[in-house]
Amino acid sequence: MTLTADPSLEAHLEETRDARLETYLDFLRIPSISADPAYAEDCRRAAGWLADRLREAGMENVEVAETGGHPIVYADWLHAEGAPTVVAYGHYDVQPVDPIEEWMSAPFEPLVVGERVLARGASDDKSNVTILLQAAAALLATRGRLPVNLRFIFEGEEESSSVHLEPWLVANRDRLAGDVAIVSDVGFFEGNVPALTVGLRGMMYAQIDVSGPFQDLHSGGYGGTVENPLNALCTIVAALKGPDGRIRVPGFYDEVVSLSAEEREALAALPFDEEAYRASIGVPALIGETGQTTLERKVARPTLDLNGIWGGYQGPGGKTIIPARAHAKVSCRLVADQDPARIFERFRAYVLEIAPPGVQVDVQDLGGGFPTLLPLDHPMLRAAARAMEATFGQPPLFIREGGSIPFVATFEQTLGLPTVLMGFVPPDGNFHAPNEWMDLGNFEAGIRAMVRYWDELASPGE
Ligand SMILES: [Zn+2]
Repeated sequence: MTLTADPSLEAHLEETRDARLETYLDFLRIPSISADPAYAEDCRRAAGWLADRLREAGMENVEVAETGGHPIVYADWLHAEGAPTVVAYGHYDVQPVDPIEEWMSAPFEPLVVGERVLARGASDDKSNVTILLQAAAALLATRGRLPVNLRFIFEGEEESSSVHLEPWLVANRDRLAGDVAIVSDVGFFEGNVPALTVGLRGMMYAQIDVSGPFQDLHSGGYGGTVENPLNALCTIVAALKGPDGRIRVPGFYDEVVSLSAEEREALAALPFDEEAYRASIGVPALIGETGQTTLERKVARPTLDLNGIWGGYQGPGGKTIIPARAHAKVSCRLVADQDPARIFERFRAYVLEIAPPGVQVDVQDLGGGFPTLLPLDHPMLRAAARAMEATFGQPPLFIREGGSIPFVATFEQTLGLPTVLMGFVPPDGNFHAPNEWMDLGNFEAGIRAMVRYWDELASPGE
């Protein structure tokens, strides 16, 4: 191991373990459910509580910033001259608790059972927020300073679409300058294996509207003379993908960053049981783009899926009509470096090109988001990996997520920061579900790993 632990910091962390746990439990007692307006005051209380803890820790310029929704808690410490500036993100809001009857204990009365803390928000994301806070607190208490310049941004609307985060970041862009962002709203891989998330997929979402005659027509009286909008829609949909699983939109793959040999190896090394995966979703076979493994297709390749299709008669019995209109919703998961707006334009042009004559076809953009990807050799990521390895005794897995966290791209694009997704929750922590829990081993080690990461950023040991 290249990193040495800081003995006085370690002693301090040992001494303050009980107090730290109490603080974390206090945080968990605040029912900061952002989606439900009935808890708006509690969200505000959580923000105020967090601001007080940040001040106590020695963070500066602590602010409960109004956003038009639940506030953003900001704090910084900027006295590490010459060292990089870290912008660290977490969220203090939590998901609703339903179904409440499936909880073993009250969601906002945290229960400590052995190494587990059971409560709503115990893992997602109050654990990671507390780890960031406690790492800064321990450093300021023992060294009187931080190895890096640090800005905290703790959001209160992550579980309700982060509506005010992007405008706030844009409005505050000038005072949020930094060198790297840490988004701490992720965790470990299956089996509680330390991991760093390096890629997230983005999204293009479109609706295809096909219209024909003024109104539904008698299929006997008019059939054979007009195009049927539902038939036309199916013709379009059938042409979107080839039998090889490739999306046929011209230019669709132009900006896709292919997996490097190292990344393919890393993916192949993940403990992923393909047969268990297949069985768990109840399908007879796994299919997809040829030339790519299941895991590659799941997290590192773009997709195209119909999410809904409707039109015509769907009631009991038969109704012999040519429907006047037909519609489909189509979404594409995107990967780096696909641009959602550009992909939409190509998608739209292709749909119009393949549309049969005799109908009017419109394609609407329903919104999207950028994918993100940090190269495995990025120095900010290497430093995080060294800190994880030194703390956990094994190198972290580099994982990509098939899903999307749109604001990660916002950090990259609005603030221009490479973004390291680093968090410590166990993979089976029941986030968003009853009996959410956090592993106290991960929690304590997470604080050490975060301290080591900041030390590593200040003086890279590689
Ligand atoms: Zn979260």
